[in-house]
Amino acid sequence: MGNPQGFEAFHQRSITDRDAFWAEQAQLVDWHRPFDRVCNYDNPPFARWFEGGLTNLCHNAVDRHLRDRPDQNALIFVSTETDTEKTYSFRELHTEVQRMAAILKAQGVKKGDRVLIYMPMIPEAAFAMLACVRIGAIHSVVFGGFASHSLASRIEDASPVAIVSADAGSRGGKVVEYKPLLDEAIRLSSHKPGKVVMVNRGLAAFTAVEGRDVDYATERAKVMDVVVPCEWVDATHPSYTLYTSGTTGKPKGVQRDTGGYAVALAASMKHIYMGEPGETYFSTSDIGWVVGHSYIIYGPLIGGMATIMYEGLPIRPDAGIWWSLVEKYKVSVMFSAPTAVRVLKKYDSSFIKRYDLSSLKALFLAGEPLDEPTAKWISDELGKPIVDNYWQTETGWPILAICNGVEKAPSKFGSPGKAVYGYNVKLLDDQTGEELHGSDVKGVVAVEGPLPPGCMQTIWGDDARFVKTYWSSVPGRQVYSTFDWGIRDKDGYYFILGRTDDVINVAGHRLGTREIEESISSHPKIAEVAVVGVADQLKGQVAMAFAVLKDTALLGDEAALLKLEGEVMKLVDEQLGAVARPARVRFVGVLPKTRSGKLLRRAIQAVCEGRDPGDLTTMDDPAALQQIRDMQS
Ligand code: ATP
Ligand code: MG
Repeated sequence: MGNPQGFEAFHQRSITDRDAFWAEQAQLVDWHRPFDRVCNYDNPPFARWFEGGLTNLCHNAVDRHLRDRPDQNALIFVSTETDTEKTYSFRELHTEVQRMAAILKAQGVKKGDRVLIYMPMIPEAAFAMLACVRIGAIHSVVFGGFASHSLASRIEDASPVAIVSADAGSRGGKVVEYKPLLDEAIRLSSHKPGKVVMVNRGLAAFTAVEGRDVDYATERAKVMDVVVPCEWVDATHPSYTLYTSGTTGKPKGVQRDTGGYAVALAASMKHIYMGEPGETYFSTSDIGWVVGHSYIIYGPLIGGMATIMYEGLPIRPDAGIWWSLVEKYKVSVMFSAPTAVRVLKKYDSSFIKRYDLSSLKALFLAGEPLDEPTAKWISDELGKPIVDNYWQTETGWPILAICNGVEKAPSKFGSPGKAVYGYNVKLLDDQTGEELHGSDVKGVVAVEGPLPPGCMQTIWGDDARFVKTYWSSVPGRQVYSTFDWGIRDKDGYYFILGRTDDVINVAGHRLGTREIEESISSHPKIAEVAVVGVADQLKGQVAMAFAVLKDTALLGDEAALLKLEGEVMKLVDEQLGAVARPARVRFVGVLPKTRSGKLLRRAIQAVCEGRDPGDLTTMDDPAALQQIRDMQS
């Protein structure tokens, strides 16, 4: 084959000449003092990137742009909930972040202290995150509106000195009061934060706790002209902790560093997202998730781009709202999730077509498998490249993607692309741990250590759990398991088949639930479906399908549902064979999901098997699971 070229060579070098490769990428960010070691992997699986270097995330995201682009938009805030639109230039953002930093310092927050941020999608949330890293404090953002119990366990785990919160969020025009949830969470938690900084949006009246709660506006007025310099921290200093979505169990508190993260994000903006300084990035996620951390706040700003922070639904006032923002702010890079696209797909595409989307270069989607019908629909409607990218809270940036900034390559429907530079991705036999070679083999997606810069350092406060959870699942070797399983084709493209937990074994045949779901969702009457494996005395496991109909009016019509169930089974028979045929196809109004929109298959499975569904603190709508529970009796 000769020497690899283009992306292959780039990737290969990132593995075989790792330190030189990352030393080059590290030039994309500012260092107050240069590092003296690129990667310290003396104590695997703990990787220490850019040791000896001093830097600051806020400096790289904000201050360093004051020279070339002080008046360019940095933060664009749009709320269709409160009808607010406000932009901040880099200079203005710099000012606000310093004010917030001064307020936090006045509450006693010091370098290394944790600050919990429990906020809706408002600019003050961004100020708070940036202010924390500016002074070397470690933020822990908890998705706004999470119930008291989930919040309490995170307060306990992070033991914050201070909390930044707000009176309320708003969803679909309905005010969600945060303060009562926060007060209750603090009451439930054994750790009590000294101070709570309250941003009062005027949405919900609340009572301030004497001596603990301080009013943001009042404090801000005292520090209008304050100067708070960046605290130079070690590259390995933690910047934040963040919890995984809780799709497969109790959420894990991921700890991220500073220098490696800055480098990883800067490099990803160039090689994967191709956002240029001066352009606008629009990620529709929430700051409560990793996508919000990496690609609403830090990534775009480090890259000198304006970033849109959007509070609201994708369909309010109508399904054209996101595309109107693309037109208005000349968005060049957009990032969303398949679940959001599936929502839009229910609406007429004229909502997209009426806007000028010429600025848009590509739409990136991540968070869950992107099924072919959804990918095809949005690709046809937009007429833009759709780039599926696969990653995790743990990694902070993509593991699999098409790196069009390195070398243009086609996307394949259903695949998030190839192993990204820095990741030595392997497919392993989950039973023996052996590496699977060749094409079209199925196995667990794993990464050989060290994980590249930007990935988790450890689980907050629990090194042993980090090693045990992520690095000990394959017998006989220490390798990072993603707990997802997939196929690699002859061109090196991966196809994620679902979680390793979601593999079902029907009479000795191993099937990914995703394959069955894709087959079922190709039925024209089905909007969405979840397939789980349920224990069966005869076959080991059988597949059970729970589907949402496009036309929910059919739900009352028993005869029609029975007929439809037959049709769906026939469809699976034809496409995948009789072994994959679900034992039952049940129709429900809505499927149980996490707040980040991921299907809670393990909860459905547990309910079907009459087991306790475990940690459900991140579940969105309890009624959805109840409906399935009711069907069991
Ligand atoms: P928990 O780890 O608490 O169970 P979670 O895994 O859902 O929750 P996240 O870190 O938010 O938490 O999600 C990462 C997971 O999402 C991946 O491991 C994978 O299962 C899925 N995922 C993300 N992007 C993609 C993608 N492009 N294609 C397929 N699956 C994806
Ligand atoms: Mg996970």
